[in-house]
Amino acid sequence: MNKVIGIDIGTTSVRSALYNADTGEFSIVKQKTVEQYYPQIGWVEEDADEIYLSTILCLNDALDSALLDVKGIGITNMRETVVAWDKITHKPLYNAIIWQCRRTKEYCEAMSEADKKLIKDKTGLVVDAYFSASKIKWLIDNVPQVQRAFSQDRLMVGTVESYIVYRLTGGQSFVTDVTNASRTMLFNIATLDYDDELLQLFGIPRKILPEIVDNDKVVGEYRYEGKSFPICGLIGDQQSALYGQDCLTPGSAKITYGTGMFLLFNTGDKIPSSESGILSTVAYKVDGKACYALEGSVFNAGTAIQWLRDKLGLITEASESEVLAYSVQGTQGVCFVPAFTGLGAPYWKPDATGLITGITRDTGRAHIIRAALESMAFSARQLFALMQEDSGVKLSFIRADGGAAVNKFLMGFQADELGVEVRVPLNPESTVLGAIKLCLKGLGIENKVVDDGIAVYKPQKAHDEEYKNWLKAVERCVL
Ligand code: ADP
Repeated sequence: MNKVIGIDIGTTSVRSALYNADTGEFSIVKQKTVEQYYPQIGWVEEDADEIYLSTILCLNDALDSALLDVKGIGITNMRETVVAWDKITHKPLYNAIIWQCRRTKEYCEAMSEADKKLIKDKTGLVVDAYFSASKIKWLIDNVPQVQRAFSQDRLMVGTVESYIVYRLTGGQSFVTDVTNASRTMLFNIATLDYDDELLQLFGIPRKILPEIVDNDKVVGEYRYEGKSFPICGLIGDQQSALYGQDCLTPGSAKITYGTGMFLLFNTGDKIPSSESGILSTVAYKVDGKACYALEGSVFNAGTAIQWLRDKLGLITEASESEVLAYSVQGTQGVCFVPAFTGLGAPYWKPDATGLITGITRDTGRAHIIRAALESMAFSARQLFALMQEDSGVKLSFIRADGGAAVNKFLMGFQADELGVEVRVPLNPESTVLGAIKLCLKGLGIENKVVDDGIAVYKPQKAHDEEYKNWLKAVERCVL
C-alpha cells in the first residue's frame, strides 16, 4: 500500500490527512485547534510548543490509523509566521509571531522609498508587516532570551515548518522550502537564495536561518514506534493549494475563498514583476526547476458573509446567502466593499475601512447579501486583470477551493466575471493535497488516481456596469 500523510499547520488548527496513492482514498484523521494570543492591539501570537505538540498528536494518530504502513510525511503550513528557538534545548524563545501580527507596522511604514524599491525588486514583495523579516528583526531587537541565545551561538529562527521539522527530526534538519523562504522578505526570487544586502538591511545574520530546499526533497526522518518515516514535501499553504489543484501550467490559477481570499496565478519559469500591487512569488521548485506565480491577497472575503450573519443578523447560516443571491436579478446598484481590516492587494491600505453604497428604499437584505458575494468575484476580476497585464500570460482556467467555494451563485458569477471556466474539486482539501502530492513526487511513488470529481462553471456574460460601480466604491475606501 502506498499511503502518505499530509500535515496542515493552519492559522488556528493543525490537521493530519491520510492518502492512498493506489486507491485515491483520502481522509482527515485528526484536527487539533491551537490557541491564539493577543497581548496588545494588533499583536497575534501562538505558543510554538503547542503547535509542535498538536502536530505530533495529529501525526501519530494518522500513523496509528494506518498501522504504521506509511511511506512518507508531507507538510504544509501558514506562511510568514516566525519562530525563534534554542539550538540545544529545541524550545521556543518567544511565542510564534503569527502572519496576521501588525506589531512592526510603523517600522515598515518608516522604511525609505529606496529600500522599499530594493526589497520589491529582489523579493517580489510589497513592504508590509505581514512578511517575516520585520518580525525577525523585532525578536532580535526586543527579546532578551533571543539576544542571549544569539550571543551564545544557539539562536535558530525560521518559519513554522522549519521549527516543526527541526523538532520532528530531533534537531537533525534545519531547513525551509523555497516557497516559505520566498515570503520572508529576505529571499531573492531570482537567485533563489537569501540576499546578503537584505539580510544586512534588516540586521539578520544568515547563520541563524535554515537551509533552503526544493519542495520535493526528503529533508529528514521522523521516528515513531521503532520505525522511521521520511519527511518529504514542505510547502507554504497557498502554493500547496495551487499544486494540490494541479495548476502546473502557465495561465492556470487557483482562488481560495475563506476568511480572506488568496489568488495564485502560475506564470511558469518567467519571474513575473508587477508595478500594480500584486506580489511575485515562487510557486514551487521540483525536479530542480523553479516555477513562479503572481499572488493577490484579499484580507476579507468570507468575513463579509460572517458579518452579515453575526453582526447584522440578515441570515442565520452562511449557506442561505446562495438562495438569497439567486432570489434577485441584481443588487439594484448596491456595492459592498468589506474592507474590515484594511485593503490588501492591489491597494495595501491597512487603515482603509469598508462601505456599502447605492442603498435606496427598495434595497432589501437579498441585495446586500448578493452585493457581498459579487464583491468577492469583482475583487478576483480586478486582480486577474492586473496579473494578466503584468505578466503577459493569459488566464486559462481557475480552480476554486475554501469554505465559500460551495456557493454555486458565487462560482457561477465568478466564471462570468473572469471569462474562463471555474472548476471546483469535490475534495475541498486542496491545501493538504499539495503537500501529499509533493511527498509522493519526492519519494518517486506514482499517484495512480487522477481526481476528476469536479464541478465546472462555464462563463456567461460579464457584468461590466456593476463591476465599474464596484471599482468606484473601492476607490472611495482608499481616499
Ligand atoms: P478559513 O480557512 O479562512 O478559516 P474556510 O475556508 O473554512 O475559512 O471558509 C470559511 C468562510 O467561508 C467563512 O468566512 C464563511 O462566511 C464563508 N462561507 C462558508 N460557507 C459559505 C457559503 N455557502 N457561501 C458563502 N460563504 C460561505
